[in-house]
Amino acid sequence: MKSEQLSTAIPLVILVICAFVISQVIPPILTHAQSPSITTQNSIGGNLEDELNKVKSEISNIQKEKENLKANKIADQNNLTEFQKQIFNLQTTVEELSLTIQQKELEINQLELEIELLQKEIEELIERIEDNQDQIEALEEETDERLLGMYLAQKQNSSSSSKFFASDSPSEFVKVDTYRQALQEDTNVKLELLDDTRTQLEKDQTKLEEDKITLDRSREQVEDEKIAIDIQRTTARNEQAAFEARKLDAQNRLSGYDELIQVLSSKEKDLLAKQDSIQSALLARNEIVSGVPVDQGAFLGVEGDTGYAYGAHLHFGVSESGVIKNPCNYLPGGSYGSCGGSGRIGKPMGGGVLTSGFRTQSRPTHNAIDISTGGGANIVAAHGGYTYFFFEPCPSWAKVCNAGGAIVAKVCEVDKCASGLATSYYHLRCTAEPASSPRSCQ
Ligand SMILES: [Zn+2]
Repeated sequence: MKSEQLSTAIPLVILVICAFVISQVIPPILTHAQSPSITTQNSIGGNLEDELNKVKSEISNIQKEKENLKANKIADQNNLTEFQKQIFNLQTTVEELSLTIQQKELEINQLELEIELLQKEIEELIERIEDNQDQIEALEEETDERLLGMYLAQKQNSSSSSKFFASDSPSEFVKVDTYRQALQEDTNVKLELLDDTRTQLEKDQTKLEEDKITLDRSREQVEDEKIAIDIQRTTARNEQAAFEARKLDAQNRLSGYDELIQVLSSKEKDLLAKQDSIQSALLARNEIVSGVPVDQGAFLGVEGDTGYAYGAHLHFGVSESGVIKNPCNYLPGGSYGSCGGSGRIGKPMGGGVLTSGFRTQSRPTHNAIDISTGGGANIVAAHGGYTYFFFEPCPSWAKVCNAGGAIVAKVCEVDKCASGLATSYYHLRCTAEPASSPRSCQ
């Protein structure tokens, strides 16, 4: 998907390549094109690789730390939900118990009122009993006085009955004397009535006192119940307070997670940028593996999407003495659909379809063709010559930039690309360079 940058990039690249190649002392002796023995010039590579590994491990640690924080956050969120549920339940319990306590207090008040009323009734009864007692005593006293009066009158007026009055007991006298007996009978009836009343009153008092004892017991029981409920309520309140504390802890932690994650994300972002720049520096290293001779069909690398590319494909360009040509005119007929011509060069990729043509109406600055198998196909030299590998950073206007730039292979018929046919192979995933190169497929 390279576009207009190619028209300027290729001559520039060639210039750079040539200048560089000339400045080097190159002893490229190849026994096999697919495993070129390439001398790499690498002054900082070791350090860069160490640094890259260090950055990668830092990124991995940060990512692990972030995962842990996220897991803890979820756990605390779940905890919080659970704590809130518990708090709600305990609150409901406390409210219910408070209501029960209020009811018990009402019951106690009611019972106390009843006890008080009963006490008054008992006191009234006691008063009535006392009154009754007074009446009995008064009546007896009156009887005694009357009898004494009669006794004295009889003693003066008649001596016939004196023998009776000689007796010590006035009641003995009452029994034998009819008149006095009749008189006494009335008093006795009154006394009996008073006696009955008193008995009844005393029974009532006993009953009321028993009732009062029952009520007192009820009150004690209700008070005991109230105390027990109060203890339950205190327990529930304490539990609720404990959950409130745990909830607060979880909330404090939760507010901290996002900040921690943010700090880590910011570190991660910096490290990722650093990783990209190190990777780009690594890929750009050994900028030119100078002119290793290759045969047509020699392995150059693997189809990829490095640089400014939307998906894996080969961006394949042809130039002759520095002049850009349409690759389809050089490829064998029917190489990629209608793309094919003289067959002066071979196919750079076995399979694949043409996904973008040379300087089409919609892409007039596209100075090459795009061929794709979807990725992973072997890319081979379309003709014999000398190979060069390099890394080309993305242009500033690129909308995407995979791996910081494109890995490129170039094959020139004439060493140092001074003239003749040259082909370029962009967006490689990796190259035929030896394992010591960070671009290597090995
Ligand atoms: Zn392209």
